Amino acid sequence: MTEMHWIALAESVLAETELTTRFSKGHAACAALPELRRATGFAAWRHEGQLRKGEGKAPYIHHPIEVAAILAEIGDISDVDVLQAAVLHDTIEDTPTTSEELESLFGARVRDIVLEVTDDKNLDKLVRKEKQVEHAPHLTKDAQVLKLADKISNVHDVAFSKPVDWAPERQLAYFDWASRVVDGLRGCNTALEALFDEQVARSRDAVG
Ligand code: ZN
Repeated sequence: MTEMHWIALAESVLAETELTTRFSKGHAACAALPELRRATGFAAWRHEGQLRKGEGKAPYIHHPIEVAAILAEIGDISDVDVLQAAVLHDTIEDTPTTSEELESLFGARVRDIVLEVTDDKNLDKLVRKEKQVEHAPHLTKDAQVLKLADKISNVHDVAFSKPVDWAPERQLAYFDWASRVVDGLRGCNTALEALFDEQVARSRDAVG
């Protein structure tokens, strides 16, 4: 697919998510910056056909766009490399995208941030989850804010659009684990940390 095609894809995905995103000003930033539209188009192409695990079955691309929107709107982050990395953050982990590809298309800094938040899929799932807890305090600040916004989006979805086969115990265990990861990210962005705490409290209440 050529770059012209991704940009067209970005336009349609951004028009669609505008109706659904909870962070509309952040969304506007994604739509306005050419670099972000480009990254959004590439990610939308790579995640095409993938759905979120939740019962809402949203197109997967809504999630990375929301993460970028949270960073822009709540985290007050305007660094375009960090916002591009947010839109691209799951492309290496969940699509056939390589780190070389990200470097050649978006530069070494964007690639490095994405790599920092990419789990090693060769490891067992439980090991990967523990590694996230261990690594959180050692990430760069760019990767820390991205990981925090990712957890805010995921905690919301686990509570309010949960995967169909998840019992409440599993939802609550997810909130506990996400909180342990975020404990290692404290100090990177006060507003995002406050939103995470609020989101976890609301999510626990909703699950009971
Ligand atoms: Zn994610």
